[in-house]
Amino acid sequence: MKNEPCPFCAIVSNHLKAQVIFDWENTMAILDHRPIAEGHCLVIPKLHLVDVTDIPTLLGGEIQALISTVVKSQRAALGTPGAMVMNNNVVSQHVKHFHAHVIPRRIGDGISILAKNRPRQGTAHLEEVSAKLRSQI
Ligand SMILES: [Zn+2]
Repeated sequence: MKNEPCPFCAIVSNHLKAQVIFDWENTMAILDHRPIAEGHCLVIPKLHLVDVTDIPTLLGGEIQALISTVVKSQRAALGTPGAMVMNNNVVSQHVKHFHAHVIPRRIGDGISILAKNRPRQGTAHLEEVSAKLRSQI
């Protein structure tokens, strides 16, 4: 993968065709070509940034605003009441250019990112994990 060109940068520079839904100053929303559901979009920064830790705060605002706009568009266009917004970082991230999946959802559509084995954790354990995470900020 090292020397392969980035497909999202190629889309931004108009060297690779994609279904562009919104083209904003620093971000774009495109249709995922392997959708989990009809209308599944990807929100990407135009700058090649690998994962969420690379996103500057101001750009994050535009990304969030575009995600919100995509959800509104999906609701209006597809009649989907909900949406799942997610992104993978490093693990399971096939394209190493930040992208947020915005997947329209309907009740009973069977779409889930839930792992099969997700036992409920006790409060003490949750507090311990929370404290660990807070200590790193
Ligand atoms: Zn890129």
